[in-house]
Amino acid sequence: MIVEIVSVGTEILLGNIVNTNAAYLSEKCAELGLSCYYQTVVGDNEDRMSEVMENALSRSDVVICSGGLGPTEDDKTKEVACKAMGEQLVEDGITRGRIEEYMENYVKSNPGYIVTDNNWKQAMVPEHGLVLNNDNGTAPGLIIDKDQKIMILLPGPPIEMKPMFENQVFPYLHSKQPEIIYSTTLKICGSGESYVESAIRDLIDSQTNPTIATYAKTGEVHLRLTAKAETEEEAKELIKPMRQELEKRFGTYIYTEDEDETLEMAVVKLLKEKSMTLTTVESCTGGAISARIVNVSGASDVLMQGFVTYSNEAKHKLVGVSNETLMEFGAVSEETAREMAEGAVRTTGSDVALSVTGIAGPGGGTKEKPVGLVYIGCSCKGETKVKELHLTGNRTKIREQSVAQALTLLRECVMKI
Ligand code: ATP
Repeated sequence: MIVEIVSVGTEILLGNIVNTNAAYLSEKCAELGLSCYYQTVVGDNEDRMSEVMENALSRSDVVICSGGLGPTEDDKTKEVACKAMGEQLVEDGITRGRIEEYMENYVKSNPGYIVTDNNWKQAMVPEHGLVLNNDNGTAPGLIIDKDQKIMILLPGPPIEMKPMFENQVFPYLHSKQPEIIYSTTLKICGSGESYVESAIRDLIDSQTNPTIATYAKTGEVHLRLTAKAETEEEAKELIKPMRQELEKRFGTYIYTEDEDETLEMAVVKLLKEKSMTLTTVESCTGGAISARIVNVSGASDVLMQGFVTYSNEAKHKLVGVSNETLMEFGAVSEETAREMAEGAVRTTGSDVALSVTGIAGPGGGTKEKPVGLVYIGCSCKGETKVKELHLTGNRTKIREQSVAQALTLLRECVMKI
């Protein structure tokens, strides 16, 4: 079934509110296996709303509208939708009773509040419509299922719309199309998007069910595998061979399949498993690596110390980088990154230390040492590995990529222990 999402509200058009309803509804429709080809935003204008709804009904099986169901004069979604579906509005006694009850309670907690007549407009429902109870507000949701077309009207406030969709609309649509969509994401660190894409080109070219899609993130690539089936178990079975093939190709570069797990979480988990402590020594990232580690609850079990050694003096004084090294090779060099990491282990006694030194730009670059030249070092149980990176982008991007690459190097080194 093809679904179309229509978000009603001039506030959205003006950029006063972000259209989170459309994002939520799209995600849910994808979960239901519905194909969404169009999303539209329209202001509270009857003619334009009418045009949008008729257009949507002409090309989609299901039209889901959010917003404009309230009691005020500019809330016209229901009236326009009924006209487009050829439905009359009639008063629904049950809905009126619910609104009366809601208002009574509201007045009890807000003494002096005057219930105006326009509230009863919300009790008007399409003659052959299905009324969706609103447990968090007064405007009921509505479903009009007529002549092979389904029009679903939901209130605008996400706090009302989401539970209504989850509890009433989701099961309704699921019964109309029993196929579901199941997705899982394999998160890969240490490989760029172009490398990952070329390594799976054959799988992309021959994909049917499941499908595979790549998403580039800073320093990571996520592979989303999606299968359509009648049950989640069947979909998982369909995905299994594809997942095994990807595990064969990317091995330990896949750091998680858990939607909620971040790279820093995976790193902290690994350090905990190995009972290892970490010290960070950062120059151009200015503490961003330790900040990512501290994002993880329970980081105190592994993070011993974080140095920000921005100046040469700090590099020498805090972690013992020799003045000779700084003079001969410079602060941004393989030798300095190595001494930063080794010095941090020596100074703190932690099991592993991670260092970063580089030129984040936009100034400070030279022909020999351009902006984007970054060294990351990891000293782990007596062995130190340093990587030279040539990063592109603005200052923020270079610093973010440095952090992601450093966490990846840390993970690589610790996994070998
Ligand atoms: P109400 O009874 O509150 O008037 P309504 O169904 O008429 O509800 P709107 O008046 O269109 O809905 O919007 C009410 C509020 O809901 C908006 O001010 C906004 O905070 C939120 N809202 C509406 N549409 C969206 C959307 N697409 N995404 C996120 N929030 C939204």
